[in-house]
Amino acid sequence: MAVKEVQTTCAYCGAGCQILFKVDPDQNKILEAVPAYGRTNEGTLCLKGHYGWDYINDPQILTKRLKKPMIRLGGKGAPLEEVSWEKAIDYVASRLSEIKAKHGPDSIMCTGSARGPGNEANYIMQKFTRAAIGTNNVDHCARI
Ligand code: SF4
Repeated sequence: MAVKEVQTTCAYCGAGCQILFKVDPDQNKILEAVPAYGRTNEGTLCLKGHYGWDYINDPQILTKRLKKPMIRLGGKGAPLEEVSWEKAIDYVASRLSEIKAKHGPDSIMCTGSARGPGNEANYIMQKFTRAAIGTNNVDHCARI
């Protein structure tokens, strides 16, 4: 088996670390990730860069992409069912209100994403958490 090397940019936190994937071209499968020399990572990777890519080889994750909001309408353990965005937003708003009324604002935590939504969406998320929910329980997948 001739191992192929593919250099790419880590997709996690946005620091832009360079990764060298060792790929088995016969199986089209990543075998290992090692650090490549990049301007920001200078030949090192954190744990996510080293090991956080194995989902790529998981067909369950790749084939089961969410295309619409889903709710377990039958409660915990029930199958997920597709719903409209209006219904999903109403559901989340009512559940957050119920939880806040019953357990207080510090029982809720919100987390942002480094992928896709950008600074504006993360800004709105933390503002919503602090101003609407009333808690400082805010985090981000990159801990920043
Ligand atoms: S610090 Fe870690 S998660 Fe962020 S880009 Fe580098 S390897 Fe990826």
